[in-house]
Amino acid sequence: MSAPQAAAAATVKCLVWDLDNTLWNGTLLEGDDVALADGIREVITCLDARGILQSVCSRNDHDPAWARLEALGVAGYFVVPQIGWGRKSDAVRRIADRLNFAPGTVAFIDDQPAERAEVAHSLPEVRCYRAEDATLLPDLPEFNPRAVTADARGRRSMYQAGFRREDEQARFTGPHEDFLRSLEMVLRIERATPEELARVEELTQRTSQMNATGVHYSYETLRALLAGPGHEVLVATLTDRFGSHGAVGVVLLERHLRAWRLKLLATSCRVVAFGVGTVLINWLADQAARAGVHLLADFRATDRNRMMEIAYRFAGFTGVADQPCDCWSEIRVRQIHAGGGEDGAEDGDGTAGGIQLLHLLAERRRPPTTLRLIAADLTSGAPG
Ligand SMILES: [Zn+2]
Repeated sequence: MSAPQAAAAATVKCLVWDLDNTLWNGTLLEGDDVALADGIREVITCLDARGILQSVCSRNDHDPAWARLEALGVAGYFVVPQIGWGRKSDAVRRIADRLNFAPGTVAFIDDQPAERAEVAHSLPEVRCYRAEDATLLPDLPEFNPRAVTADARGRRSMYQAGFRREDEQARFTGPHEDFLRSLEMVLRIERATPEELARVEELTQRTSQMNATGVHYSYETLRALLAGPGHEVLVATLTDRFGSHGAVGVVLLERHLRAWRLKLLATSCRVVAFGVGTVLINWLADQAARAGVHLLADFRATDRNRMMEIAYRFAGFTGVADQPCDCWSEIRVRQIHAGGGEDGAEDGDGTAGGIQLLHLLAERRRPPTTLRLIAADLTSGAPG
């Protein structure tokens, strides 16, 4: 695991709360008039604002426990609550699975040592905390993400909209394309502003399956690219009638006279089913065709990003050795690593540092049929 990935894994993405004598004082089933323990409301709202999701895992009857959370005004903060009588480790695992989070990014807080031990035994990666330490959590490094972006602040409502969308999809009986059209999706592709770079960085950190080079760009590197000539940093955001998906894609593009080179294309795993990667690639091909340039794309195989290679190949990209063209021979291969710029030696088949260069003779493409695209005009920019 590379250093940036390790750092990302250290941050808790979801905190799972026990209820009786942890979130609230007293035991609901014994008839106690339970109330939130001191400082708990502040912890909940603070973590929520940082984009850390929260859930509930409690031995109780579901309906009265949930009604009490509603009465206390905190029910809306929790996603995929697990209130029932099974093992807590099973409930925590269900939460992680439903959110598609690795157990190592999930935390659990409970007043009962036996419950913490049971969870820790079955899920050793899950971090367990004592109820008496609840108000200390916001000060711990693992509950302090490095950057709190607009997407982080809206993360909980994005997940809640996502579950409503999934429910609707489960009920939908027609073809997948018809379901996609029913979502009334709007994809915006815009040049990133300096204020948005934290968002872009966060997205490159959170994408692994759909990251064409597996490189996680730092804020500093992105800022340098934005300031440098001949580069485009583009952000794609997706909304539909259920709400916003936030930033779902990032494109780093290097302009040359005869070709545009995609240094990075990464899309959020959450929107793979909506075809966002394909829409982005087709849009880039269309823009390149309008500008009269070819498209080149950096690709580096990782153990997670096979889907990205399929998306490029499906769009018509080939290895530069398979389709000789002199548009790329003039380009000195420059690799930008997460730590800063660095020249890479290139050999004859267009590979450098494990990065393979893919090539496309760009032609005009039809606009997407499943979503509305609102995009910047790249043909207006001057080549660097
Ligand atoms: Zn070419």
